[in-house]
Amino acid sequence: MTTRAEAEQLVLKVPTEPYYAGRWQAGRDVNTFDVVDPVTERRLATVAETGAAGVDEAVSFARSALDDGEWARTDGAARGRLLDRVADLLEARGEEFAAIESLDVGKPGFEPRVIDIPQAVRTFRHFAGWADKVAGRTVPTPGHMGRPTLSYTVREPVGVVAAITPWNSPTMIAAWKVAPALAAGCAVILKPAEDAPLTSLLLASLIEEAGLPAGAFSVLPGRGEVTGRLLAGHPGVDKISFTGSPETGHTVAVAAAKGFRRTTLELGGKSPQIVFADADLDAAAEGVAIGVFANQGEVCAAGSRILVARAVYDDVVERLVARARDVKLGDPFDEGVTMGALISARQRERVCRYIDAGVAEGARLIAGGGRPRRAGYFVEPTLFAGAANTMTIAREEIFGPVGTIIVFDSDEEAVALANDSDYALAATLWTSDLGRAHTVARRVRAGAVAVNGWSPLDPALPWGGSRLSGHGRELGWSGIEANTEEKTVTVVL
Ligand code: NAD
Repeated sequence: MTTRAEAEQLVLKVPTEPYYAGRWQAGRDVNTFDVVDPVTERRLATVAETGAAGVDEAVSFARSALDDGEWARTDGAARGRLLDRVADLLEARGEEFAAIESLDVGKPGFEPRVIDIPQAVRTFRHFAGWADKVAGRTVPTPGHMGRPTLSYTVREPVGVVAAITPWNSPTMIAAWKVAPALAAGCAVILKPAEDAPLTSLLLASLIEEAGLPAGAFSVLPGRGEVTGRLLAGHPGVDKISFTGSPETGHTVAVAAAKGFRRTTLELGGKSPQIVFADADLDAAAEGVAIGVFANQGEVCAAGSRILVARAVYDDVVERLVARARDVKLGDPFDEGVTMGALISARQRERVCRYIDAGVAEGARLIAGGGRPRRAGYFVEPTLFAGAANTMTIAREEIFGPVGTIIVFDSDEEAVALANDSDYALAATLWTSDLGRAHTVARRVRAGAVAVNGWSPLDPALPWGGSRLSGHGRELGWSGIEANTEEKTVTVVL
């Protein structure tokens, strides 16, 4: 396992400039921004911010790569081989990526090592497999003016795709956007979150090493208000694949609407975890706690609304409190640590405001609620019991380690509570009754429902939500559809 000192050395080798037109664009941008270590509150790196000229050049180079560059001539099988090579390189450098991601995001070392980086590797491999299978359909047609017809569709790359990502799982979410778009033959411009851009910059060096033709992939670091806004509003961008908050998602959607450009919006969630009375309570308590506390709760699919059947309510509450007490908060590089720091002081303030709101609105604070007295943006794993679904802590996304426990008396009520939300991203059911599992899974409004396990992600499975959670699907064949236009060809024979 990499130590903190070793990880800090690794960061020194991460490029800090934009990468486009097949090379690092050193010295082009005058503005910079600092990347801060959430655990020590010290500066980790100073990164160049891509301005208007850089965004223009990157977009026009991506466009020419698609129109008449080497990328345009790279067929599906060759794209698949390149993506496989990216997967191999990422796997070989997995420990380095995991260490830098831990440092940059403040998350415990085992999470990127076991989840984020392997998921990213699997995503590149999965889409390597799709790259030569992006096929259209033949469609039977009755003929035209007395003559027979042959009709078929072809799937063509949507064009230049801007991928705008959040800071919570930078490598994995970048892979979710970059791999399907490249498999489909698009040119991708990645704009990582300013709070944690390091592994995305490293990904560019790895993609360069894999041999992707110039213009197929670019990374433009910069703040959302500057580089993100320029990219989202650029008329040369054909599609914006955005993951982030609903507020920014709205801004991006409005910018895209000006040119009727396509969007995939993966926004937040307030996902229910429903514990039925027939659940295996040991497994449920363990899984629910992971669903609330993994990645410090900075997870779009966090199961932060915990709905519990009255018959097992006290038992489940007791078990969850024990789980919260088991969490070891600390430096992600220290032995045994299971929860790190939140990304920023701003995020810590936001989470603490929600904790205050929970107390003020009358929910019972049964675990955590405080900030440890030490450097770093830490917040204790926190649970509220006796909550109502109308409370702020049950309605708004906190994006921190805060779970809200609500009691229910019937399956009807559980479904009604689960669906009484502005969000609809994910839901988890804990039950040993097969019929109940399938029945409730159909009735809960969510893009993804998991039974007896929290958020079992796989690159083959479509991912996305509706309502304030956004629209569109990433991953699996849906990820290919999201990055292609279907063109109809009819030949009058
Ligand atoms: P954010 O919306 O502040 O930022 C997301 C990205 O958008 C960043 O790269 C940022 O620089 C950029 N950005 C900011 N303003 C912009 C603008 N005006 N134009 C274009 N880009 C702009 O979100 P965040 O704080 O980084 O992430 C937290 C949010 O992301 C949470 O709401 C969380 O639920 C959501 N999220 C969703 C998923 C999902 O799959 N649904 C996954 C992870 C995070």
